[in-house]
Amino acid sequence: MKRYVYDFADGRAEEADLLGGKGAGLAEMTLLGLPVPPGFTVTTEACRFFLLEGHEPEGLEAEIDARLEALEAAVGRRFGDPDEPLLLSVRSGARFSMPGMMDTILDLGLNDATVTGFAKALGHERAAWDCYRRLVQMFGATVLGVPDRLFDDAVTARRERRGAASDVELTVEDLRELTATFRRVLRDQAGRDFPQDPREQLRLAVRAVFRSWQGERARVYRRREGIPEDLGTAVNVQAMVFGNLGPDSGTGVAFTRDPATGRPGVYGDYLAEAQGEDVVAGIRNTVPLHRLAELSPDCHRELLAHLRTLEEHYRDLCDVEFTIERGRLWILQTRIGKRSAEAAFRIAAQLAVERTITMDEALLRVTGAQLSRLMVPGFTGTADHVPLATGLAASPGAAAGAAVFTSAEAVRRAAAGERVVLVRPETSPDDLPGMLAAQAVLTSRGGRTSHAAVVARGLGRVCVCGAESLRVEADAGRFTTADGTVVAAGDLISVDGTLGAVYLGALPLTDSPVSAYLLGGQPDSADGDTVDLLGAVGMLLQHADRCARMRVLANADTAADAAAARTLGARGVGLCRTEHMFLGTRRKLVEEMVLADSDPAREAALARLLPLQRADFEAVLAAMDGLPVTVRLLDPPLHEFLADRTALAVSVAADRAAGRPVSAERERLLAAVERMHEENPMLGLRGVRLGLLVPGLVAMQVRALAEALVARRLAGGDPRAELMVPLVDTVEELRQVRAEVERVLAEVGAESGVAVELPLGTMIELPRAALTAGRIATEAEFFSFGTNDLTQTTWGLSRDDAEAAFLSAYLDRGILRDSPFETLDTAGVGRLVELAVREGRAARPHLATGVCGEHGGDPASIGFFHRTGLDYVSCSPRRVPVARLEAGRAALSPQ
Ligand code: PEP
Ligand code: MG
Repeated sequence: MKRYVYDFADGRAEEADLLGGKGAGLAEMTLLGLPVPPGFTVTTEACRFFLLEGHEPEGLEAEIDARLEALEAAVGRRFGDPDEPLLLSVRSGARFSMPGMMDTILDLGLNDATVTGFAKALGHERAAWDCYRRLVQMFGATVLGVPDRLFDDAVTARRERRGAASDVELTVEDLRELTATFRRVLRDQAGRDFPQDPREQLRLAVRAVFRSWQGERARVYRRREGIPEDLGTAVNVQAMVFGNLGPDSGTGVAFTRDPATGRPGVYGDYLAEAQGEDVVAGIRNTVPLHRLAELSPDCHRELLAHLRTLEEHYRDLCDVEFTIERGRLWILQTRIGKRSAEAAFRIAAQLAVERTITMDEALLRVTGAQLSRLMVPGFTGTADHVPLATGLAASPGAAAGAAVFTSAEAVRRAAAGERVVLVRPETSPDDLPGMLAAQAVLTSRGGRTSHAAVVARGLGRVCVCGAESLRVEADAGRFTTADGTVVAAGDLISVDGTLGAVYLGALPLTDSPVSAYLLGGQPDSADGDTVDLLGAVGMLLQHADRCARMRVLANADTAADAAAARTLGARGVGLCRTEHMFLGTRRKLVEEMVLADSDPAREAALARLLPLQRADFEAVLAAMDGLPVTVRLLDPPLHEFLADRTALAVSVAADRAAGRPVSAERERLLAAVERMHEENPMLGLRGVRLGLLVPGLVAMQVRALAEALVARRLAGGDPRAELMVPLVDTVEELRQVRAEVERVLAEVGAESGVAVELPLGTMIELPRAALTAGRIATEAEFFSFGTNDLTQTTWGLSRDDAEAAFLSAYLDRGILRDSPFETLDTAGVGRLVELAVREGRAARPHLATGVCGEHGGDPASIGFFHRTGLDYVSCSPRRVPVARLEAGRAALSPQ
């Protein structure tokens, strides 16, 4: 029979798919001999069964009973024993950590009878009642769906009545009454009493954890993090230990290295007389971990030793949750710690330098998404401003925006295009939509491991937390600083998550030191941390270049872009879009060329464009001397170049109606614009179609490029150009363009006496081109996948229209997991790419292949291009370092 429950002592880290990350960690720590309270894990498989079938798999209850019996024997206490009960915690634990997204229930097993025995056994009546009221609350919220706020309000009311500054000051009597109040809330809201039978509590709690996989918060988080929907969660059932038994008890979180900066050393927060989630919930302010050395030197020493064991074992930054129960240390969970992008680079480099891991492993521990986060700006001139407050630098970066005080407000304003900073006393999982919508998060309570800090780091949002001097009144929509300054909703503030400071107003932003360094500068005032970070980035990028099979090129239309791309590590230009050279003041010339009604008029327009175009090409070729530059023939959607039809028609009609003269030229322009008008310009006379239908256009562009090559060669340069044809549907289009190209090259060769070589390739950006790639390859020396158009035409979606209108609804409803315009749709568009590469290479074995759509710079798509066997990716210059990193990682990742 299938097994659904594993003792911690039976499991293994490798079984994280089955046991979840937390369950695997508990199993591993148990095997390492760390002081882990005993318990067992219900597998993700049981959860998947439950979610699919709507009931527990057969035999699960009996298995849980058997494990529970073993647990009772191990601890020497019985679940539900009125004299000295065993209490349990029940926690979710999926394959991938989803901090705070799913629920935890502590102190399971308490009821009206056991609470007395428990109090006696503890010798601590207050603690016992504290546990009982927590259980009723957690059970109510998690299992029965009662809003947490109702319980919190009851606690606040009680505290105010008593004049207590914190929960610690509440008496046994207060807690007893609170428990009764909580149960009333439960009855009112859920229509049932808190179950007194511990077995029923356990059964319902396990089921609630299964169900929490489907909760709204968890779904939002998974969508955002790309965690598959069908994994399910494991459930960890563990003997409780108590951090709320007096001053020699407490609970905390510790990291083997600083998860915000990556600095070596042990970091964390500790909260005396507290239990469970109190530390991460930011309810009271924690003390830094090193203070534990004074409070409890033995436990501190022991904890450090365990942290060392764990880091050596996992060979990575670990974080642990621990509890001290009357001077005895227990480790409740461990996992590979989440970290900021900066910390990821520094820690990977440190571990490689220490030879704990190889360079290949180090490269696999950082991501392109993290590198792009490091390339974002910071503030300038903070020295001239007095901060409104300082707090913990929980997630680095800098951002300014309007202060907002609720998640809903953040979402609303952000949807209207405003940049916002979410300000809360502390955050809870309910604030996730607001955190996603905000540029930055600011809280007045909570440590580096508070919900706000952990989630903001994971999301790449700037975060300052625990800015204690601020009084945040979310309901009133304002916060007040220590000196009485009031900041109201809508006021601009600036949050520096790297330094932990908040300023009034929107401070100017400056480029990141990582960007400056990659662009060839060395920031003069770099501190030690920055120098370390730059060293780590440089080292890992170099290693990526050594590992990568694909080259990284840039999409660049100007010499300045090409030069920047080269500095950022591009090995050439994969796409030089010539239509961009025709915009601005030159638009008029293109209009004349397209609308010309006689050959001489068109030739005159082309003749004026030729020298401009030649100079553009020369400059780009000079900037990329020695490296390939792929020039694409003109691909304008016509409407971008012609005068606006409606505006022109209206102004002509208005003049006529008012009896004003309309010039013959405007009449002609209007007639021509009417003639060329298209209902669907993106599917109209563009790309190669325009080149074939406007006489002289291809010839002018080829001549300009060929003459630029000759000029560069004569100037002693090493220009390497290639020519690319856009929007090809059929091989015949390419054949006709090739004939024209060869004719012009021969002409320029004869005129200059310099033989010009110009490999000719095509973009594959229409499904038909992909489907007939074998034929097209007979005329093309290379394929460059234009995945922007290929996505639009494969899906039948106009990008601009979809993004403006319905794409977000599709993402919200889970119809799409990612925007196919950002991350390549491997199942659809990707199959066309694979097919075209395969059939193209079958026809021409040395066919070069690459991608130049936006996806070429998308960290999540580059692995696919590598696996498909492309020779290069080409992306905008700013994304070149990210693409280099991902190309290297792709070469190391299992196929
Ligand atoms: C593409 O379609 O992917 C492409 C690179 O061309 P453009 O974005 O210029 O249409
Ligand atoms: Mg295109």
